[in-house]
Amino acid sequence: MSYLADTSLNPAALEFLERIERQFHLDDEQLQTILAQFLKEFELGLSKYGESPAMVPTFVTHLPDGTERGTFLALDLGGTNLRVCQVTLLGNRQVEMNQSKYRVSEALKTGEAEDLFNYIADSVDHFLTTADIPLTEDEQLYLGLTFSFPVEQTAINKGKLLTWTKGFAATHAIGNDVMQMLQDALDRRHVHVKCAALINDTVGCLMSRAYFSGGCILGAIFGTGTNGAYVEDMKAVKKLSTDAIDGPLPDKMVINTEWGAFDNARKVIPRTIFDNKLDRESINPRFQAYEKCISGMYLGEIVRNILLYLIDNSILFGGNSSKQFNTHYGFDTELMSNIENDQSDEGVTCRAILTQKMGMDDKLVSPNDIAIVRWGCKIVATRAAKLSGCAVAAIINQTHCAEGHEDFVDVGVDGSLIQFYPGFEDGLRSSLRLLVGENVEKRTRIGLAKDGSGIGAALGALASLHQERERQVQPVLQAGLDTAKASREAAEGVGKAALADSIA
Ligand code: ADP
Ligand code: MG
Repeated sequence: MSYLADTSLNPAALEFLERIERQFHLDDEQLQTILAQFLKEFELGLSKYGESPAMVPTFVTHLPDGTERGTFLALDLGGTNLRVCQVTLLGNRQVEMNQSKYRVSEALKTGEAEDLFNYIADSVDHFLTTADIPLTEDEQLYLGLTFSFPVEQTAINKGKLLTWTKGFAATHAIGNDVMQMLQDALDRRHVHVKCAALINDTVGCLMSRAYFSGGCILGAIFGTGTNGAYVEDMKAVKKLSTDAIDGPLPDKMVINTEWGAFDNARKVIPRTIFDNKLDRESINPRFQAYEKCISGMYLGEIVRNILLYLIDNSILFGGNSSKQFNTHYGFDTELMSNIENDQSDEGVTCRAILTQKMGMDDKLVSPNDIAIVRWGCKIVATRAAKLSGCAVAAIINQTHCAEGHEDFVDVGVDGSLIQFYPGFEDGLRSSLRLLVGENVEKRTRIGLAKDGSGIGAALGALASLHQERERQVQPVLQAGLDTAKASREAAEGVGKAALADSIA
């Protein structure tokens, strides 16, 4: 209650606020219950299709360790721009990169899928004419695509689009293999590029962190949404039939958890009326339940719901609101972050935001109001951070990665929330500490994954090449060769691989 301590709020108002604060508080026992439920839902998602979280097998079976080499193409499609990157892995945890952005117009986003993929192929073609990648006639560049839309993956380079999101609505795409559509478009243009890997952004985050750090147990995103990917033992992925895997059975596979859907059945996370209102008014009621308590898209809206409730109860702004406060999603999470970043006693930034961004009349904003708004941001963000720690703890438990040694446990992260929200990591660590113990929490290294969508996609293309080689050296394996070593050596430095040679 630190923000409210120095206010002149009357006891009734204080009690009113404390009652709300208690609803956002997660005690130790609740956090333990959430962790246990995570492990239960992980197990269910790994054993059956159609569960939530979906626990999507990605068919990525190798994580990089920083020694990888080669030149790859990476594409990143998902926002306003299409990004084409040439990524050269130097093999000493270093990377050289060169990239161009191509605008994806509204017409392309909502027109025929073939036009969209033709445009992507044209962009790749244009990029290659400007980039300096020496290739001989029969060499092909391997391409990784970071595709931030839901797909059902059946191989590292195959995945059917389930649905578009984020303003994309191109026709004749849903149900089709994204990689095939892209490969067809490249082939029509005679662009010598092989679509090798379809990579979710969390998987890219995991791989990028692994390359720069030498290892990584989890790639986690706390941005507009939240999600995580980790390395699972194949034998735990019960739903994946061995027939579904081409080539030798791997020991491990990266799983894209889609943990935003954790607790969709609403069993363990205590919900407030503010969460219920958000959910009811969302485009996907009852879905992405965990994400709705955690991510950038929603935190501001939860705070807005609290503040409106306080306005309606004449506890805030003398019962006055503004057009912005009355607008759905009218209070962005970035504003919360800015408000909490300001350490001044009087909350200068908070006042400026309320008056300049949120349209409140300065005369209607009292020091008590400032304290209440700061308090509202804090209780919502603290709960989000603590809940985020539960997912990290769940992965540490699930993978047993901290057992039997005293090494670092590496977690790669991405997203504005974890990067910029003041105290978010501290809050995450507070629940992590409770759930995995201080020793493991201290050994957990949480670091930004550098350009997961660019470097991660390139590493995905390398993993694909690596796996392809592994299938080819299978007969040699029986002659007693160490597969991993052979395939790594085969893959290194041959991003621009003349595969035809080695097959023959
Ligand atoms: P994306 O997840 O789409 O790749 P980001 O990681 O940048 O993009 O996350 C965007 C989300 O983060 C938005 O919901 C926005 O409200 C929120 N956000 C933007 N800036 C900040 C900030 N400084 N602090 C906290 N959250 C922020
Ligand atoms: Mg992002």
